[in-house]
Amino acid sequence: MTEKLWDPELDTAPWEEVLAWQRSLMPDFLIGLRDRSPFYVDHLRAAPVEEADRDDAWREIPFVTKDDVRRNQRERPPELLLGTMQSVPSDRIVQVLGSSGTTGNPTFYGLTADDLERWTESLANWMTTAGVGPGNVVALTTGMPIVAGGMPYADAVRRAGATLAWIGGQTTERMVRLLELLRVDVLMGTASFVSFFAERCEEVLGYPARELPIRTILAGGEPGMGHREVRRRVTEAWGVERISEVMGLCDVLAGIWSQCGSGEGMHLTAARNVHVELVDPETGEPIEWTGGATGEAVYTTFTRIATPMVRYRSRDHMRVVGTTCACGRTAPRVECIGRTDDMLIYKAMNVFPADIRDLVVEMFPERVAGPMRLRKDTADQVRFDDPIPLEIELTGGGDTAALAREIEESVRVALRVRVAVEPLEPGTIPLGVHKNALTYVRETAD
Ligand SMILES: [Zn+2]
Repeated sequence: MTEKLWDPELDTAPWEEVLAWQRSLMPDFLIGLRDRSPFYVDHLRAAPVEEADRDDAWREIPFVTKDDVRRNQRERPPELLLGTMQSVPSDRIVQVLGSSGTTGNPTFYGLTADDLERWTESLANWMTTAGVGPGNVVALTTGMPIVAGGMPYADAVRRAGATLAWIGGQTTERMVRLLELLRVDVLMGTASFVSFFAERCEEVLGYPARELPIRTILAGGEPGMGHREVRRRVTEAWGVERISEVMGLCDVLAGIWSQCGSGEGMHLTAARNVHVELVDPETGEPIEWTGGATGEAVYTTFTRIATPMVRYRSRDHMRVVGTTCACGRTAPRVECIGRTDDMLIYKAMNVFPADIRDLVVEMFPERVAGPMRLRKDTADQVRFDDPIPLEIELTGGGDTAALAREIEESVRVALRVRVAVEPLEPGTIPLGVHKNALTYVRETAD
């Protein structure tokens, strides 16, 4: 199998060499940053930035958290548009991007003209890795230019040489008609959205989505498409040949990880501009890139000028699924197994809601109708000493109580976590248009 590589030199260099090359650039990057950004002047004051190319010194460079970003944007002086992390005069910033603000207030990031050029190159690699290039007509479904899935995705499609059809921002009915009229063959959206969208296609067009010429789906924005059963359903609904899972972070780069045509998991496609580490979320200690390893992804944007990130704690929990690949790319392949923020603790055991969902969908594909959710008593509940309430829509009639016990037992055996299954009729759990939460807080009547 031969796949097109966007950046053959770096894409195929031994991973250790790529990391060493990135690390060699860190001292100059950090020294410059310490001179230019009020936040980093303080943050890096005691850090061994001159030796940051050495492993032991690098580990002493303090992390940056989302709270740091929020705080520095709240306290921004008038001359700094994006707060004290900004490291260039405001008049050099050509674009502002924002997080979608699903948790708390949105945070903003800037790009200089050079940042934008470098970012777009990395995004083109990301798009190419996902199998998109000249000849494809790519539908973007978001209606929000300022977020990662907006302008940056649009830049990515065009730089990779494909045809951009930005159909988002109008009614779904109109979007469906444009898929047909423009002969779209690549669809981008979240796993939840592409599932919802397939149903709308049939309602609007009067024929199933799989009769449209869409052959590739790029699914990003939420974990889930890594799962075999979810992929099977989406593949069937759209009649596609390929689903590429993609992932990025507005705070870092809109597209960082992308799935090639050959394997499971996503490659890092941003090595020219982004250094990534895996760390233990509790201790912050580094974790090696070996198969099966899990940890929180920590990013350093070592070429970004406007609003750089140094050892940024993403809160995304990743698992390494492979360190070699038939496509020739040398970057490890990972899957996102959840947000560290989503992690629950059952009697001192860490558990991700997505792991429970994936297991249940995998083991009971014929009986689980779709949505399920774990119920918390309060929004900030993390610890459970009693079995975690799990609401599931079940189909097929029969003895649902017995099935519920079977599901509980399967979860207990596989994950060593107890859940209390509460069977529901199909259609009970409201479907999110863009994302489906896996936990919710019960509204009390009183
Ligand atoms: Zn590959």
